[in-house]
Amino acid sequence: MSQHTITNQNYIAGVWTTAHSEQTFEVLNPANQGVIAHVPDSDASDASAAVDAACQAFLTWRFVPARKRAQYLKAWHALILANLDTLAGLISLEQGKPLAEAKGEISYAASYVEWFAEQAPRIEGDLIESPVVGRKMMAIKEPVGVTAVITPWNFPAAMITRKIAPALAAGCTVVAKPAEDTPLTSLALVKLAEVAGIPSGVINIVCSSRNNTPAMVNNWLQDSRVRKISFTGSTPVGKHLAQASAATLKKLSLELGGNAPFIVFEDADLDAAVSGLMAAKFRNGGQTCVCPNRVYVQAKVYDEFAAKLVEKVRALKVGPASELDSEIGPMINERAVDKILSHIDDAVQKGARVLVGGNRVRISDGPNYIAPTVLGNVSKNAVLCQEETFGPVAPLFCFDNEQEVIEQANDTPFGLAAYFYSENVSRIWRLASALETGIVGINEGAIAADSAPFGGVKESGYGREGSKYGLDDYLHIKYLCQGNL
Ligand code: NAD
Repeated sequence: MSQHTITNQNYIAGVWTTAHSEQTFEVLNPANQGVIAHVPDSDASDASAAVDAACQAFLTWRFVPARKRAQYLKAWHALILANLDTLAGLISLEQGKPLAEAKGEISYAASYVEWFAEQAPRIEGDLIESPVVGRKMMAIKEPVGVTAVITPWNFPAAMITRKIAPALAAGCTVVAKPAEDTPLTSLALVKLAEVAGIPSGVINIVCSSRNNTPAMVNNWLQDSRVRKISFTGSTPVGKHLAQASAATLKKLSLELGGNAPFIVFEDADLDAAVSGLMAAKFRNGGQTCVCPNRVYVQAKVYDEFAAKLVEKVRALKVGPASELDSEIGPMINERAVDKILSHIDDAVQKGARVLVGGNRVRISDGPNYIAPTVLGNVSKNAVLCQEETFGPVAPLFCFDNEQEVIEQANDTPFGLAAYFYSENVSRIWRLASALETGIVGINEGAIAADSAPFGGVKESGYGREGSKYGLDDYLHIKYLCQGNL
């Protein structure tokens, strides 16, 4: 991808364009809040134009044979991989993910496009045994229609492909709105979809500022032509979308916030548990919805585990996202830094000990960094026990027995991911069943994969992304019943 294919415009009906009002908003460098680009600040009229285009394109896209839709997706997949370095550079620039990890995100984002290209020709229905002689009964699957895709800032590439690829594979068309902090990566991906030959109007993308987003998205929520919303983001916004779209009863997929427990039993391989926690907790600077937010360690191994963890965390390299050896980049913005520091202060006031880190650090390109932190003996009344901290902070809680830790792990409205380490087989099966989450990592800290169903229960939302189940969210079942002729 050359520089001229990087874009800062909306894409509607196959045309790159400004907002109708010609207003723009600033995209900021997370490390120092310097302006890196201006993108359109769209309003309801832009949102509506995008739906017009998606409706028009749906008339033909839904009938494009699945194998042909798969070919378009495969062409897009190849272009994403061919432009991996440029796309990764954009993620680092606007989101602050260290470059090595940003490259990993692009491969991961591309994997969903390939996976759903492979799934498209596998959409099948059923012939149903009839209770009446001569009657033919069948269930077929059809695309739900125009789908609104709304994504968060923390995985600006993967969240876009994890939604758009299954939508297109199913035969849906899309109107998308990227997060205001990170629109550039999403726009570049859509540019590559255009280069891949995906027909005009099949993917439309419009940007909007924090101020304009509620009104712009509200247009989609009220528009009966939009049949589905696929949202990843915070639980309060997810609840708002569910309520506000109730008038037109849209199909919803909601991938919302988490508060993942990470449990280390005394019968665990402690080195493996430390490695698993490092992978799960500190990637993307702890700004991941499936990040462990509460680390429970059984009393007998607490001190040993804490010492091993502190040693690894102290060695993490905090540095500019553009440098390949950086392991912790800047937080997404000033507000995020303030929230993380307030969670640390609150925990310390309630009796926690800072074992390493605990402070803000200034790096060459700016002040928005947090030192990777481990807190010991955290009280369960600390705010970070109830709310996602979304930063590089591992709070340790000491527990005595299995039943107690199951109760504590489940004592949250959220239910996205949970992790535990144990080498006791019967305990493994008990815990796998007792934890109230959509995902359980068992002796494993890296859980996401294109072939696996990703999603939560309770207030972490509903619907699944990735895997063979991920396509179902974009299809509805139609029952055909033919009488005896
Ligand atoms: P957010 O909810 O603030 O924003 C997400 C998206 O919603 C953005 O595009 C934003 O512009 C839009 N939005 C915000 N207010 C809106 C409104 N009133 N109406 C319509 N749209 C609105 O979340 P965020 O801060 O971008 O992302 C962090 C959150 O996302 C965390 O809670 C994290 O756990 C969650 N997340 C979940 C998953 C998952 O798969 N479950 C993955 C990544 C992030």
